[in-house]
Amino acid sequence: MRALPWLEPLLKQFSERRLQGRFPHALLLTGLPGVGKSWLAEQMVRLLVCEQPSEAGACGHCRGCELEAAGTHPDSRTIVPPEGKQQIRVDQIRAVSDFCSSRVNTQVSASG
Ligand SMILES: [Zn+2]
Repeated sequence: MRALPWLEPLLKQFSERRLQGRFPHALLLTGLPGVGKSWLAEQMVRLLVCEQPSEAGACGHCRGCELEAAGTHPDSRTIVPPEGKQQIRVDQIRAVSDFCSSRVNTQVSASG
């Protein structure tokens, strides 16, 4: 049983696109506070880094899943507003842009 069943259709749609190798270049998750955006983003990341995803989701046992669970997956970055702030700073976005342009995402390129 999932923690946030109202987000299941979105996660299912994302999982199907993952299995088909069809992704948009970016996703923007918006909604009211407390609706589960962070949870949904975490589930999406797990699906992306999993080396053996299925319709049920990330396997939870492969190297990609273990690295993500440990917070050490080399293709994963989490950005949140600085403490006491409500917005992500421009320099944080620039750092992500540099990270993305300097990395080869082996997970996505290997599957699609
Ligand atoms: Zn996995």
